[in-house]
Amino acid sequence: LSAEAQHVLDQIDEQNVDFLRLQFTDILGTVKNVSIPASQAEKAFEEGIYFDGSSIEGFVRIQESDMRLKPDPSTFAVLPWRHTEESAAARLICDVMDTSTGEPFEGDPRGVLKRAVDRAEGMGYDVNFAPEPEFFLFEEDEDGRATTKTNDVGGYFDLAPKDLAQDVRRDIIFGLESMGFEIEASHHEVARGQHEINFTYDDAVSTADNVATFRSVVRAIAAEHELHATFMPKPIAGINGSGMHTHMSLFEDGENAFHDEDDEFSLSGTAKEFLAGVLEHAPAITAVSNPTVNSYKRLVPGYEAPVYVAWSDRNRSALIRKPAARTPAASRIEARFPDPSCNPYLAFAALIHAGLDGIDEGYEAPDPVRENIYDFDEEKREEYGIETLPTTLESAVEKLEGDDVVLDALGDHISESFLEAKKAEITDYHVSVSEWEKERYLETF
Ligand code: GLN
Ligand code: MG
Ligand code: MG
Ligand code: MG
Repeated sequence: LSAEAQHVLDQIDEQNVDFLRLQFTDILGTVKNVSIPASQAEKAFEEGIYFDGSSIEGFVRIQESDMRLKPDPSTFAVLPWRHTEESAAARLICDVMDTSTGEPFEGDPRGVLKRAVDRAEGMGYDVNFAPEPEFFLFEEDEDGRATTKTNDVGGYFDLAPKDLAQDVRRDIIFGLESMGFEIEASHHEVARGQHEINFTYDDAVSTADNVATFRSVVRAIAAEHELHATFMPKPIAGINGSGMHTHMSLFEDGENAFHDEDDEFSLSGTAKEFLAGVLEHAPAITAVSNPTVNSYKRLVPGYEAPVYVAWSDRNRSALIRKPAARTPAASRIEARFPDPSCNPYLAFAALIHAGLDGIDEGYEAPDPVRENIYDFDEEKREEYGIETLPTTLESAVEKLEGDDVVLDALGDHISESFLEAKKAEITDYHVSVSEWEKERYLETF
């Protein structure tokens, strides 16, 4: 047993952990659990835990359904909402292995991200990511079901008493900290009932793990306050939706490869090539980073969400922004299009491969756009050569089907099941009849 695994066994003993949840995600980013009694922990580290993957979304066909979970000891954490003196539940995030080959299973999103990180390492880079997931807190109805009634009327950076969610946010932060998160800030977002909690950057795989954990902790602790937390991108029309801005940088030998103090924007040539790669592949990446029908209701002008493929060092209507950085290590680029309904492993993998492709191909970044792009008309956008992001899931999926770089980022297995799942979702949506249609047509015709 590795020293790290042995340390986990000691922790299990010390903290009276009686159940371990072995976690992984399906292709849609939903966290899946297999629970084992603590007595099985040693065996889980030594041999892995076998399970039937055939009922997991996008995993495998019935005839090849045996999968093995390989727990990653560095991800051990006690679940704060299942913790008393005498008993506790803990989780371990796992890699999914193919039992027939003994290799990482190609349908495992975490494995897909590891492959992207390996490609960067092969080029000499460590990849750092920091996301800013936003979410809404809604009241529950008498049956405990989610409503879209917000529990406060606060706005950007408001304080109590308007910001009634202060206590919930505090409990969420304590919960996250107890699981090892380093929280940098939290604030009430622009929309009523909307919040943001920022945690510190980390390597890409740890950050994707953190996003998956973050979503579960926020939901579980909100539920203790009888509130429903949602990461749905646009729960209410006419006000801001929830994004997951994603900050990215590459380090080379411990130095920030994105920083150049002589550059007007403090961005190195490497950073600009990476940025150009992301811009080039952004329309296809949206299918992965903004993977729901509802995602495209957020990507509309006027709500601080991007609509046009451009970058800026100033304004927030751009797809990619260069945030002000206090230190050379903090020079980075911020992709503003992803939303928190995505599978973070797949979205990060797509962003990394697109950026690395920009470096491989030596792409040149266009000039930054400093005006508010929402105000541009079509003519002006053409003059600046600014493309529009896909406006529906359907068009994003079409872009994905035509982009080999992003398809290769996902790999054959995931590409195939992802496209299949998304097409079924689109068909479902097409045959549904919305509230809007009823309001518009029911009494008119
Ligand atoms: N909610 C906005 C979005 O959809 C972002 C607002 C902000 O963080 N300034 O991306
Ligand atoms: Mg923010
Ligand atoms: Mg925000
Ligand atoms: Mg931001």
